[in-house]
Amino acid sequence: MLKFKTIVSLLVITLIYSCATNPFTGKKTMALVPNSDLFPTSFAQYNQFLSEHKVVTGTKDAQMITRVGERIAAASERWLNANGYHGYLNDYKWEYHLVDDKTENAWCMPGGKIVFYTGILPVAKNETGVAVIMGHEVAHALANHGQQRMSAGMLQQFGAVAGNVVLQNESDRNLFNQYYGVGSQVGVMLPFSRSHETEADKIGLYIMAVAGYDPTEAAALWQRMKANSAGGAPPEILSTHPSNDSRIANLRALAPSAIAEAKKFGVTKFRE
Ligand SMILES: [Zn+2]
Repeated sequence: MLKFKTIVSLLVITLIYSCATNPFTGKKTMALVPNSDLFPTSFAQYNQFLSEHKVVTGTKDAQMITRVGERIAAASERWLNANGYHGYLNDYKWEYHLVDDKTENAWCMPGGKIVFYTGILPVAKNETGVAVIMGHEVAHALANHGQQRMSAGMLQQFGAVAGNVVLQNESDRNLFNQYYGVGSQVGVMLPFSRSHETEADKIGLYIMAVAGYDPTEAAALWQRMKANSAGGAPPEILSTHPSNDSRIANLRALAPSAIAEAKKFGVTKFRE
């Protein structure tokens, strides 16, 4: 039987070897499941989700989702390359889909798999509003926030997880779904922590600005979300993204630095 001390040192070693660096903050983050294991699971779950939902194609709205997604992805790549993170997106396989569903939600799964529900479009209001949401959700994926929540959950549930964890059995897939919350049929999606939200807001603001969308619109978008939550059923996205005054004030305060960031990439005028 392993002694307690041995178990503790194994755990420490696992953690040391399971850290990834967040390119946006330079901070070490916990990554018990490497992206090379996580992405195939993500891609499979995404395809399953699409097969079980009505994907909208060919409409103006569907084209807008693809257009914004491509611009946000391109801006992410430009930003990462300019900051010395060449190859960071190598394993990403971007996809952007609009599904016909009244749920007011949108998400991006690991590896760049994005879904917008038609239900969120009235709150988004216009293409810039879509870019705010897209930038924010993509930022969670770029910063591996779901990965960190999942790693924390694994530690909680299994204690030390040594070596690579390949998500092949059902309980691991359930865990994946719990932490990524793929659609309402899967159930609970845990709210991101406040620090992850602040981080995603900032990264999202930068990449939307580099993509040519006006970052001053972000505060207005979250204000609409907040207004929408008063009376009636609040948007589902708010269960994981509470919109409050400090968030809105923070976005307003950050907008000038996002505009300055965009300027570095030659973007001086934003799309109408
Ligand atoms: Zn978020």
